[in-house]
Amino acid sequence: MMSDGINPAQSDSVQADFNVETVNYVRSEPPPYTPWDQRNVIEAPVIHQTVIIQPQLKASPIFFHCPKCNETVLTKVEYKNSKKTHMLAGFICGFTLWCMLCCLATMPYIFPLFKKTRHYCPNCNLFLGQYSKF
Ligand SMILES: [Zn+2]
Repeated sequence: MMSDGINPAQSDSVQADFNVETVNYVRSEPPPYTPWDQRNVIEAPVIHQTVIIQPQLKASPIFFHCPKCNETVLTKVEYKNSKKTHMLAGFICGFTLWCMLCCLATMPYIFPLFKKTRHYCPNCNLFLGQYSKF
């Protein structure tokens, strides 16, 4: 059959011999192309958050960001006696009592080094924090 030079695909007799079924595939059109940025993308709300890194408090006035005034201010400091100030004074008093030098026990009350430092905003008087060396 192949010897007569007829292309079997083009011959009607060949189609009848092999019982070729013609299947029509219905190709649906692909969805139209939409760029990625035009699709329905749910956008998350953008939250801008400002992080202010505060400096470490010290025994002296420092520049500090006041959250109430929302500006950087030079803190107003106040020295207060703490429990440790009284304990240190008592210790010095007890230690120097034998040599009549217990007047040295007033040293923790005189020098701010032995007190706790409380920082305030000079504008709104907001308490910003406290520092204690001991
Ligand atoms: Zn303030």
